[in-house]
Amino acid sequence: MPKRPQPRFPEPNTEPYWNGVKERELRYPVCTVCDQVVFTPRMHCPACGARDLEWRTSSGEGTVYTFSVVRQNRMPGFIDLGAYSVAYIDLDEGFRLLSSVVGVDDPTRDIHIGQRVRVEFEEQEEGEYPIPVFRPV
Ligand SMILES: [Zn+2]
Repeated sequence: MPKRPQPRFPEPNTEPYWNGVKERELRYPVCTVCDQVVFTPRMHCPACGARDLEWRTSSGEGTVYTFSVVRQNRMPGFIDLGAYSVAYIDLDEGFRLLSSVVGVDDPTRDIHIGQRVRVEFEEQEEGEYPIPVFRPV
């Protein structure tokens, strides 16, 4: 089971996001004034300045915007992974998330830009927050 770093609180911008992750939901804030998706999460809308945001739940489906493959990482929590992807995922609701594409035999060959993916929540050896990752559909 992976041992990825866990979020630390208090962190008012992202705490609702992590509370969603704990319930296996991908949540994102939207401005109630101009309907702008605000991601990465913050306390105000960067488009109109309003502080009135509401949290919605994503379908968890999207496409690979771009990616890279890390062939070796000696950091604790990553050392046992072998080659793994780091990928930007464009969610269908209009926000981009930095994550990883998992469940492929060879990340150097089996991931491509525009690939459809769906979120899943990777349980961690320590800590109560799973990590959102994406699997090709
Ligand atoms: Zn706004």
